[in-house]
Amino acid sequence: MEEQAAEVIIVGSGPSGLATAACLKVHSIPYVILEREDCFASLWKKYSYDRLHLHLAKQFCDLPHMPFPPSYPSFISKNLFVKYLDDYVSHFNIIPLYRRSVELANYDEASRKWIVKVMNYGSTSGKVEEYYSGKFLVVASGEASNPFTPDIDGLSTFTGKVLPGIESIRGNEVLFVNGQSHSFDSIIFCTGFKRSTDMWLKGDDYLLGEDGIPKPSFPDHWKGKNGLYCVGLSRRGLYGINADARNIADDIKFSLL
Ligand SMILES: Cc1cc2nc3c(=O)[nH]c(=O)nc-3n(C[C@H](O)[C@H](O)[C@H](O)COP(=O)(O)OP(=O)(O)OC[C@H]3O[C@@H](n4cnc5c(N)ncnc54)[C@H](O)[C@@H]3O)c2cc1C
Repeated sequence: MEEQAAEVIIVGSGPSGLATAACLKVHSIPYVILEREDCFASLWKKYSYDRLHLHLAKQFCDLPHMPFPPSYPSFISKNLFVKYLDDYVSHFNIIPLYRRSVELANYDEASRKWIVKVMNYGSTSGKVEEYYSGKFLVVASGEASNPFTPDIDGLSTFTGKVLPGIESIRGNEVLFVNGQSHSFDSIIFCTGFKRSTDMWLKGDDYLLGEDGIPKPSFPDHWKGKNGLYCVGLSRRGLYGINADARNIADDIKFSLL
């Protein structure tokens, strides 16, 4: 088993992963950023509706070390936010490794490193298993990254129509995961999402609960044991992401002194 070594391994390239990468870059700390999708900020680029705007004013939504341009309005549209993220990635030269789905992360006491098993779905030779090792592991996999279908009482006897999961929505046209599409007069979002960490993070019994929520309470929610951190999992939106990312990078810098 050949491992690719990195000082810091970041799982996820949404705003949390990007913010952490930028803060590490400012401290000149090398990192690798693993993303299971084929782009960064996939929630914003691929899985959100066109009319979406940030619901908090812009001074609460920027990422570390790069404020929004003064020309941006107070409440930023999805398209402008994506443009800002594109500029952010260029500015900090962030290069995620795409189509890398993290399947298992365990702490190895002997080497004092996190060993991360990844499935690379982008390889030209089909899907390939890869391993990464790092002194620090940053969980930036999002609060809403996995679709979740709850058990609903009475669903089996429901006489209405239950359609498969939604792949994307363009205007009033809905594309379903089975490839069919239908148009609707109105669409009401009652969707459930689930954090994914319980599926792959195994070497931790301190930081994150089975529900993926940090167990230590605010303001200590971002730091685990053995070089484990989480960013963006404390239900504080982009404002919380900004603070978590700065704290994590500062803490890693301090550990490396
Ligand atoms: C519709 C919507 C609107 C929102 N509006 C606001 C707002 O106005 N203001 C605000 O402050 N917050 C808002 N939020 C909340 C939050 O700021 C966003 O959800 C933000 O995108 C969170 O960033 P993140 O990087 O933590 O998670 P995500 O954006 O979900 O990114 C997580 C990334 O991790 C990747 N990933 C997950 N699991 C794995 C794995 N096992 N291996 C590899 N990669 C993995 C995912 O593919 C994804 O790219 C909104 C959220 C939603 C859903």
